[in-house]
Amino acid sequence: MSERDAAPWTCPTCARAAPREGKAFPFCSPRCRLIDLGRWAGGDYKVSRALEPDDLEEAARDGLPVEGLERFGPFDPEP
Ligand SMILES: [Zn+2]
Repeated sequence: MSERDAAPWTCPTCARAAPREGKAFPFCSPRCRLIDLGRWAGGDYKVSRALEPDDLEEAARDGLPVEGLERFGPFDPEP
């Protein structure tokens, strides 16, 4: 089996393999998840509109890791 087959998912933050059964999935570790959240909070990522509390519920239904995102609210539109 090649190395690529053994790594079905890579951490968005550090590009290392992230185990799907890991608690921080899709990140390889809680640290990488926090780094990613920090990027969002810092405005490095641009979104088409402000994040709403409903978005968190929707993301949670989709199985995305939204735990901890609430503390970035309330979600004001960008100036
Ligand atoms: Zn990582």
